[in-house]
Amino acid sequence: MSARSYDDRCAMCGWVGRFEHRDSTKAAGSDFACDRCGTRLRYRDEAFAIVDEYGETASSSLDDVCNGVLSNFALHYVGVSGPLRAKLMTLDGFTESALEPPAGQGFKPFRRAYQDLQSLGFVDAAFDLVVSSHIMEHVPDPDRAFGEVRRVLRAGGRYIFSMPMRPSGATIVRAVTRDGEIEHRQPEHFHNSPSGGALVFNDFGEDLVDRMPDLGFSATIKRPTGNMDGYLNAVVVARKLDTHQRSEGLEG
Ligand SMILES: [Zn+2]
Repeated sequence: MSARSYDDRCAMCGWVGRFEHRDSTKAAGSDFACDRCGTRLRYRDEAFAIVDEYGETASSSLDDVCNGVLSNFALHYVGVSGPLRAKLMTLDGFTESALEPPAGQGFKPFRRAYQDLQSLGFVDAAFDLVVSSHIMEHVPDPDRAFGEVRRVLRAGGRYIFSMPMRPSGATIVRAVTRDGEIEHRQPEHFHNSPSGGALVFNDFGEDLVDRMPDLGFSATIKRPTGNMDGYLNAVVVARKLDTHQRSEGLEG
């Protein structure tokens, strides 16, 4: 289903109105901006997933959730930019990390560390919530990264992450690393990032969610505006299963 406009509530600021794809040169996720706060679709969908998970009412906004349950959270954001980060970084329990500093950009160090998601330097059970935005498709060994995120989450903690997701079919592995060398299995594909071109290691499909219990999470895909004008963003809410649930393959 494709559309040039739709009516919605902005999860970032709570504004209700019409959202339009005004600039056809832009991908849908980079358009459909909120007329009040200016937040583009991709980030509004990420905010939606957080509000949907933690909000007290259907009309909650990210501000409400930040003033509510998230105000007591130890929250870790993986990445260097974006309006979601700007909002979350106002929280007392906010920390962030990235693999490397943004290229040619003076970056204000803010409770920040340079970290590899596959080998995090945090103690076990350090966080209630970990958030990343279009990061996981660039990680050479995502299973290892999921294991690390699981390790640093407290019991019942969540990992909420977004990624471009294939509309159908299984994950396509584009590249892997072997003995520190990148081995390409598909033509190289890069996404723009604040650090320059970022190689895509995996084009994820919905089979990712089926695999998540094996990785110690129960997961659901939230695609509030999925397939909007060719927009294939997905936000995955993954809840850490405890060891018992994991071995039994149960959710609860
Ligand atoms: Zn807004």
